[in-house]
Order: sequence, then C-alpha cells, then structure tokens
Amino acid sequence: MDCPNCGAQVAADETRCPSCTVPLQVACPDCGAHAPADEDACPACGASLAHATETS
Ligand SMILES: [Zn+2]
Ligand SMILES: [Zn+2]
Repeated sequence: MDCPNCGAQVAADETRCPSCTVPLQVACPDCGAHAPADEDACPACGASLAHATETS
C-alpha cells in the first residue's frame, strides 16, 4: 500500500508510516477492529471511522 500522506511504499501490516510516521490504521470506535486510516467506514461493522482513534 502507499502512505496516504507522503506516498511511500508501506507494508500492509504497518500501523505507522516509517517515512513520515502518519498513522496508517485506526481502531473502530464501535467494535475495535483495526481498519486502514483512509477508510471511511469500518470493514467489520460498517461504523463511521470519522472519529476513530489511531492505534499506537
Ligand atoms: Zn508517509
Ligand atoms: Zn467496527
């Protein structure tokens, strides 16, 4: 995948871009599933990720 912030090639399981350190995955506020930070909705439950917190 490409970092949505800097465009660097990043492994799919990275939670943070190694180049610019922007978070690449967020935790769904509803079910807790991890989802790509550029997704609009949780792939597991469909909840909006607009207010999802980044994983650390
Ligand atoms: Zn980046
Ligand atoms: Zn969810």
